[in-house]
Amino acid sequence: TAFLDLGLAEPIARALTDERYETPTPIQAQTIPQVLAGRDVVGIAQTGTGKTAAFALPILNHLANNRRRPERKTCRVLVLSPTRELSGQIVDSFKTYGRYMKCAVNLAIGGVPIGRQIRASANGADVLVATPGRLLDLVQAKAITLDQVEIFVLDEADRMLDMGFINDIRKIVSRLPKERQTLFFSATMPPPIEELGRIMLRDPARVAV
Ligand code: AMP
Repeated sequence: TAFLDLGLAEPIARALTDERYETPTPIQAQTIPQVLAGRDVVGIAQTGTGKTAAFALPILNHLANNRRRPERKTCRVLVLSPTRELSGQIVDSFKTYGRYMKCAVNLAIGGVPIGRQIRASANGADVLVATPGRLLDLVQAKAITLDQVEIFVLDEADRMLDMGFINDIRKIVSRLPKERQTLFFSATMPPPIEELGRIMLRDPARVAV
């Protein structure tokens, strides 16, 4: 398959041409059609497999096809990632693939002062990429509400577990709408991760590379 065969919206296809992406990687070829169809997904894949584009491209497609302005203090897409570095890379990917469409991307990570993130949250975001602890701080401060999330991505779930974020993730998930699409990625699937997946996914498509 080629990217063009996946039916992505024109602005996204144009950004992929800029990036000289021609062929989807295996995780992309398997994940993108499921996400476009609205399915929940469990993806078992490591970094370096093209996992970020596997979720970012169909999410941008959803935003391109369902245009509306995010409400104040909300986000339409929430991506949770375990580290500041990975969060920054995910933001960069959304900005690169979304450069020909309107897509407001915000970053909320720990280790930097919260004031700017509170101010940045006020306008609302199409996509919010966050680490769990800082996101909960922003929710507690009433700077962000999660009741408008349409698509939720949990990236590197097994690292989240290793870093002790599981309780934070449960708290965050409890604040999300029941009616949503959830994409769950992990390099490995030990029993506690399977269990976490069970509580947050609805009839997921399983994708492994
Ligand atoms: P990731 O696994 O998401 O960290 O991506 C690994 C690297 O592969 C990134 O630098 C991407 O820019 C690149 N990449 C992702 N998908 C493709 C593709 N279909 N064709 C060429 N490069 C890609």
